[in-house]
Amino acid sequence: MSDPHTEVTCCSTPSQTDPSMPASLQWFNQMVPHALAYAQQQKENGHPLVGIMCEYAPRELIMAAGGVPACLCGGSASTIPAAERFLPANLCPLIKSTFGYSVQQSNPFLEMADLVVAETTCDGKKKMIELLSESRPVHVLELPQKPNESDALAYWQQELRKLQTILEQRFNTQITKDKLRRAIKVMNQERKLRRDLASLMQQDNPPLTGCELLNLKSIISCIPEDLEQYEKAIQDLPGRKLDPPAKQRVRVLLTGVPMPHGAEHVMELIEKNGGLVVCQENCTGLKPILEDVDERAEDPIRALAEKYFHLPCSVMLHNNSRLDTIKELVRLYRPQCIIEVIWQACLTYDVESARIKRLAEDTLRLPYLKIETDYSRADAARLAMRMEALFETANENKERQDT
Ligand code: SF4
Ligand code: SF4
Repeated sequence: MSDPHTEVTCCSTPSQTDPSMPASLQWFNQMVPHALAYAQQQKENGHPLVGIMCEYAPRELIMAAGGVPACLCGGSASTIPAAERFLPANLCPLIKSTFGYSVQQSNPFLEMADLVVAETTCDGKKKMIELLSESRPVHVLELPQKPNESDALAYWQQELRKLQTILEQRFNTQITKDKLRRAIKVMNQERKLRRDLASLMQQDNPPLTGCELLNLKSIISCIPEDLEQYEKAIQDLPGRKLDPPAKQRVRVLLTGVPMPHGAEHVMELIEKNGGLVVCQENCTGLKPILEDVDERAEDPIRALAEKYFHLPCSVMLHNNSRLDTIKELVRLYRPQCIIEVIWQACLTYDVESARIKRLAEDTLRLPYLKIETDYSRADAARLAMRMEALFETANENKERQDT
């Protein structure tokens, strides 16, 4: 997230707004103030705020405890110098930015948080959380990293049951099956609405850009007004024409690291240089919303554990399901190329990129570009040149196929 008092940095800021943009899309240009007002109101009504740092965090459990889950992932370069007083410079900017907010005490959601729930994902984040826990109440879920082992899911379920007890004790409540099922239902509703919006990009002439789609989400899930605006957007968007037309741009599947609010500049570069991101496979795109939780499951904790455990993150060993997901998304969204974005020093995505490159070039026969960058934007000109070269190849391939 970015500092709501100083920045509203994202692809479609109000000043850059296209006049054809429906009001439902413009609503999300003010996402941070909306989320902040909602969080403050909920706190006043006695609901605790729980910070989360990863898509493995089961928001439903927090909501069933009466809590408000808010994503704390940092997307601003401005907080990194403060973080570097404690963290190595050669560390993922997402981790540094998140920690920098804590050092500066400038993220109101973190300052309001009654608890932070984190996971043992990558080493850098894990160790940053260790430092964070010196000054903030933190609970860490241990994520088993061999998802294909027979006992891994059982261990993960046990971790979620422990979290349930911790939430119940800390917030003096009881998480009943009914409360959990209600939370699951509303999260499923939000996932479905966001999937429906994303699926508009499957059209030959999508009615919105990838940047606009990326903007359609919130730091806090399931705010009732946001759900209404998603529904309106689904009605408003069909028939809208992009300028230049979507058909004149190169269809891109984006994979790799998440792009938290404030760190969308790579998407912006892709779309300014002739691309149209029709599919975002990463954690700020489709990855966390592709699967729902079984609302009728006899054991809702087990159902939650299964959904979150299926998330194909590079921190997992033998992360084969990420490759299967990309293959399926390529079938549905028909990209002409694949761009993988790696935040500097993100070792798990960087190492796994060898498998994604092979998948793209050898199996899917799509041009592939890996971009390793940070939040500074200093390499924008060099990246633009590499993107242009990729798009030229993609266009040549298309011309060959059309003739
Ligand atoms: S990429 Fe992995 S570690 Fe990062 S938010 Fe997604 S699931 Fe969590
Ligand atoms: S982008 Fe990579 S290094 Fe950064 S927090 Fe996510 S998994 Fe860790």
